[in-house]
Amino acid sequence: MCGSNDSFVANKHLMQPKELVQLAEEFGSPLYVYDAAKIQSQYNRLTAAFSKVERLRINYAVKALSNVAILQLMKSIGSCLDTVSIQEVQLGLHAGFSPHQIIYTPNGVSFEEIEEAAQLGVQINIDNLSVLEHFGSKHPSVPVCIRINPHVMAGGHSNISVGHIDSKFGISIHQMPHLLRIVENTGMHINGIHMHTGSDILDIEVFLYAAEILFEVATHFKTLDFLDFGSGFKVPYKKDDIETDIEELGKKLSKRFNAFEKQYGRPLTLAFEPGKYLVSESGFFLAKVNVVKQTTSTVFAGIDSGFNHLIRPMLYGSQHFIENISNPKGKERFYSVVGYICETDTFANNRRIAEIAEGDLLCFRNAGAYCFSMASNYNSRYKPAEVLWKDGKGILIRERESFEDLLKNQIRLPD
Ligand SMILES: *Cc1c(COP(=O)(O)O)cnc(C)c1O
Repeated sequence: MCGSNDSFVANKHLMQPKELVQLAEEFGSPLYVYDAAKIQSQYNRLTAAFSKVERLRINYAVKALSNVAILQLMKSIGSCLDTVSIQEVQLGLHAGFSPHQIIYTPNGVSFEEIEEAAQLGVQINIDNLSVLEHFGSKHPSVPVCIRINPHVMAGGHSNISVGHIDSKFGISIHQMPHLLRIVENTGMHINGIHMHTGSDILDIEVFLYAAEILFEVATHFKTLDFLDFGSGFKVPYKKDDIETDIEELGKKLSKRFNAFEKQYGRPLTLAFEPGKYLVSESGFFLAKVNVVKQTTSTVFAGIDSGFNHLIRPMLYGSQHFIENISNPKGKERFYSVVGYICETDTFANNRRIAEIAEGDLLCFRNAGAYCFSMASNYNSRYKPAEVLWKDGKGILIRERESFEDLLKNQIRLPD
């Protein structure tokens, strides 16, 4: 199989350290760089795995990386969008998507926000019985997708596992009788069934098991147009790392889906909502080493960034592969890579990295998903610039912030 691990070895199709160093020189550091070719190849790999399914729809999960230029790129390669807030819906429309290419999957938002999304004409996905009842009573003619919680334990860290019994996401399959009564009483039109069991799913059998639950739920509805299996594909973080076997999943789920479609007796679209899978490996975060500090027990490399720019290691222990692109062939030593935020701010402990000198550029891999989109201005730092690497050129897609950006919306007291 075409393991995407090849991104960790020299590959002429992927960005090279030299190109990244040049981009940092041109656009400054810290800097986010996204490789358009990698996004395209992930998209192609996913669609190829499901080529036996007649109607396949990929809804890119905007929250992973929401720069408008990235959304435009997604549109150009044929993707649709999965959104979780009205602002993401608006970004999608601004990027040129039409409403019917956008699914809106909120959790715990106000009823007014759901109505606003419906007004904009996007596909509504409801994950709460009381909201369903309210919405169905008020807007019975608006087609609605239902988010089911199949109660399948999946996913890595507990913060990203969302399908278990006590999860706040989805309508429990144990509430089916109540759900069906609401649909019948309101006369509302259910056009899709959805699940999203969490991130970093390794065992495709678990995924297939959850799919069977979705099929079972689907048989209760006669007017479905699509089944949305969410996402949660695990991507590799280092050479030889484990990842979801997309080809195997494609083979098995396609076969099962096609059989179900025949039994269902109506054309159905198979949908996915990948975030990480499409953009994680496309991203590189570049930061400069300000200080190398030797203590009694370790060598620290302190960079010109912190968890304000890349919070995943501090938030849920993500292990981003780090390389010294200023000295890629240097002798490896052990380092703790830390940020400049004035509290614990550790990117990596005890990592083997090619010898680091002050001023060197470090490159963090897998910096496409949930990195810039989670960045903040903590410590009153500017958010980094973002660059899209496309056709051998670096295109600036977000300017580095300035002091004016920090002050924007702040109101000074009268002098
Ligand atoms: C976050 C999210 C996704 C994307 O998950 P990934 O692990 O990044 O692929 C898909 N669907 C929904 C509803 C989400 O909330």
